[in-house]
Amino acid sequence: MISVNQGGDGVRDFKNNPDLIIKGGMIVTMVEGQDTIPEGNVFVTDGWITDIRGESEIDHIQGSHTEIINAKDAIIMPGLINGHTHAAMTLFRGLADDLPLKQWLFEKIFPAEAKFLNTDTVYWGSLLGCLEMIASGTTCFIDGYFFQDETVRAAHDSGLRALIAQGVIDFPAPGVEDPEKNLMVAKEFIERWFGFSDLIMPGIFCHSPLTCSEQTLKDAWEISQQFDLPLQIHLSETSDEVNEILKKTGKRPVHYLEELGLINDGLIAAHAVHLDDREIECLKENGVKVVHAPESNMKLCSGVARVLDMVKLGMPIGLGTDGCSSNNNLDLFQEMDTAAKLSKVFSLDPVALDAETVLRMATTWGASVLGLEDQIGTLEVGKKADIIVVDLQGPNLCPVYDPMSALVYSASGADVKDVIVDGKVLMKDREFTTLDPNEIMERVRRISSDICI
Ligand SMILES: [Zn+2]
Repeated sequence: MISVNQGGDGVRDFKNNPDLIIKGGMIVTMVEGQDTIPEGNVFVTDGWITDIRGESEIDHIQGSHTEIINAKDAIIMPGLINGHTHAAMTLFRGLADDLPLKQWLFEKIFPAEAKFLNTDTVYWGSLLGCLEMIASGTTCFIDGYFFQDETVRAAHDSGLRALIAQGVIDFPAPGVEDPEKNLMVAKEFIERWFGFSDLIMPGIFCHSPLTCSEQTLKDAWEISQQFDLPLQIHLSETSDEVNEILKKTGKRPVHYLEELGLINDGLIAAHAVHLDDREIECLKENGVKVVHAPESNMKLCSGVARVLDMVKLGMPIGLGTDGCSSNNNLDLFQEMDTAAKLSKVFSLDPVALDAETVLRMATTWGASVLGLEDQIGTLEVGKKADIIVVDLQGPNLCPVYDPMSALVYSASGADVKDVIVDGKVLMKDREFTTLDPNEIMERVRRISSDICI
């Protein structure tokens, strides 16, 4: 019998009368070494997975209040984890395409952010990001941007799990006109939201080693350490950035950050495209969490990250979409497909980064990036119920010889049918339960009609 100690309430038997049963699907648990369960049921109570059983006859344990999700002809799997995004950038989707990163950022994105970001636009942009993530099977995301109180509100309203970090940059920034105050604003942001919700972790996001000074980087690290929270940064995204850091400091970016004390397991480094062997070794030795964002790197022509080399060294690499203005969507299914194929063509090795490995990047390794590997990333009794159901009835998913291959190379976010976070159903049969898609899209369309650069 599975039972979980509920503190003051004593021990409760969860095996009978669960809150939710996801019924009769093929289960891909993502537990290392565990085979796919051809047909089974996942039981959920109080936000936890309380049982996974193979047989399909379960009617006798279904209580009168048990919600049922039918997973027949579908795959039940852990929710996907977006390791790097800027949710509110849905506002700028398709606004400035086909440009080099520096021109895109300094001539288009920074001016648009300065002019059009405010509490209202960031809230609705973030909410649209949350809507899109739910619609495509993401249950947890790592975000860094400005006006982040609004992204916290959006994530909270949507029911998603997230690490949401206040952006820090040594220029006047949206909501932080005086760069002298950027760390104070970030610290107050953390104080405001620390412990607010089990689902939302606040944090700091330093824009890059080039756009933040030495002192800013050190202070941001110090504050993150005070709260025992991870610090995010864009690292070595372009060769220009590496060359400028080299010129300024005499060191490559990883060694520059190492000298400042930032290179250890509390750092989440997005992109990490241009690394030499010593830098990779240094990141591995110190447990730095790296997040790969291949579609953004391809679109901005930043280069190809040496993911394969890092995976071979045993580093748990996360997978992220980056923001919607350099992707231009938040669909992690597409990102998995791209990650696998890009690695193959880059290494000229068709065996490189197979389907299971990229699935791991979007699930178990994404959980490791957050330090939440004991809570999310696999389907196991005792873990949080962050679960998605992928419908296999579409023509693009017929036939299925290997479920992992189907998920990575044939499925898209549009095949996700149901989404559960912390035991709560956020989408059922593609109907949203927490968000009103028509209202959100109408609000963002209205905001976008004013946006021009
Ligand atoms: Zn980014």
